[in-house]
Amino acid sequence: MTCVTTVSYTIFVNGKPTRPFDARRGVRQGGPLSPYLFVLAMEYLTRILKTLKEKPDLNYHPRCETLHIVQLSFADDLLLFCRGDVVSINYYMGVQVFPQAPYLSGRLQLIKSVLFAIQSFWSQIFPLPKNIIQGIEIICKRFLWTGETENRAKALVAWKQLSWPKSAGGLNITYILIWNRDALIKHLWNINKKKDCLWIQWIHTYYIKQQKILGTTKYLNEANIGIEEVMNMQEYSIRFVYDKLRGELPKVEWKRLICNNISSPKWIFNLYLAILGRLYTRDRLMGWGIAICSDCSLCGRATESHDHLFFKCNYSTVIWRKLLQWLGITRDVQGWNDKIQ
Ligand SMILES: [Zn+2]
Repeated sequence: MTCVTTVSYTIFVNGKPTRPFDARRGVRQGGPLSPYLFVLAMEYLTRILKTLKEKPDLNYHPRCETLHIVQLSFADDLLLFCRGDVVSINYYMGVQVFPQAPYLSGRLQLIKSVLFAIQSFWSQIFPLPKNIIQGIEIICKRFLWTGETENRAKALVAWKQLSWPKSAGGLNITYILIWNRDALIKHLWNINKKKDCLWIQWIHTYYIKQQKILGTTKYLNEANIGIEEVMNMQEYSIRFVYDKLRGELPKVEWKRLICNNISSPKWIFNLYLAILGRLYTRDRLMGWGIAICSDCSLCGRATESHDHLFFKCNYSTVIWRKLLQWLGITRDVQGWNDKIQ
């Protein structure tokens, strides 16, 4: 990975190389290193997929059993074969890419980048039925809190809140219902505005003729967006309309702790849960009726709560004092609520 993350470029201007600059996103498409990386990644993916043959309950595709075919790669296309039953398909969905199960923050990233991408193609052209949206959200929700898609678990934060922007106390998960509406408006906007595209001309000629189609969308009215405002856009801004459809949300006082925080996603997620008071502290577990001792696991002298664990506990106070001293800050250790404001 060093080759990917440390790549830099130089451009020849009038035959002279400019100063090298770093690439922000590793190797670009067309970079001479990309084919090698691709081959390496495919090689190891193929090796992992081949181990599926050893699974006793994997059912082969009826036409692939004799030759034990589970996958075929052709250039950048990957074909996976199995019988269409849940157990076999689960094997493909669950090919172990990570050496160990990802933590909450890793699962959040997977939801944002993989699970939403799967539905986003369809939701750009079709209004998704409510029960489908609910189904997708249930899968994502369960995966986030348990790492599985079948098991139910107590959600530490409501799904709706997670879809709010970070500045409003959420984690910026896409709200599928709104995203679907936004993408459909964009689709209609394209049909209305981009009349120089051949496929759009074709649709106008044979289907739409002289009708005004953007005027029929009720979503814009619901979001208080004027049709004129949308039609006057030079480029459709999916972000702008998404924010409008979602509505204004009040900012939280602690937004600076979460927004633009450069620490690792795992600690940011923990901090987020701690700020909301949603970590599995013993006082909360007892509140759910779980029979455990409520004493602090560090000092054993008081009930373990967020405020105690992070600030009032003798153990934490010593750490705070040393940290403040090290940073050259001369003031007393404060409580939880003072700290996050
Ligand atoms: Zn304690």
